[in-house]
Amino acid sequence: MCAACREIPSMDMPRWTEWAACKNPAYDPDWWWPEKAEPDERATIAVAVCRTCKVRDLCLDYAIQHREVHGIWGALMPAARNALAASRRRRAV
Ligand code: SF4
Repeated sequence: MCAACREIPSMDMPRWTEWAACKNPAYDPDWWWPEKAEPDERATIAVAVCRTCKVRDLCLDYAIQHREVHGIWGALMPAARNALAASRRRRAV
């Protein structure tokens, strides 16, 4: 299971999660769920992994579309994701 989408019921799991870099068992899924708004060392590692992920754009789009308010998705922390979502909404008008 993808570290970012571990709370999605398995029957609803998007197909792109099969290629998620964060599925590597060498990574602790908790790195994608920082408790603080500012990235700590573990979250920084998670973001670095995301930046290598070939499904990063799909992951980020999923998080924005589903208004995910927690966790790191597509290399973005919630605040950065919210800012991107707001920017996309403004451009869509
Ligand atoms: S972008 Fe990050 S959180 Fe999303 S699937 Fe890839 S490694 Fe996991």
